Amino acid sequence: MKKSVKCYLCEAETERAAVLISEKLLHKSAATVYCLDCLSDYLDMTKEALFEKWAQLSSVKH
Ligand SMILES: [Zn+2]
Repeated sequence: MKKSVKCYLCEAETERAAVLISEKLLHKSAATVYCLDCLSDYLDMTKEALFEKWAQLSSVKH
């Protein structure tokens, strides 16, 4: 599945990281994806903090 996903708010092309962060942090379906700009705004976090969070989530293995 390689279709590009646009930001729900501003329709910018979203990066893979943004899609994953949206899914993990917002617990929504992939239909609602935010770009990193909108995500950091929405969550009131810096983009750096978002990437740190994502790194934490990605490193969790079972
Ligand atoms: Zn956006």
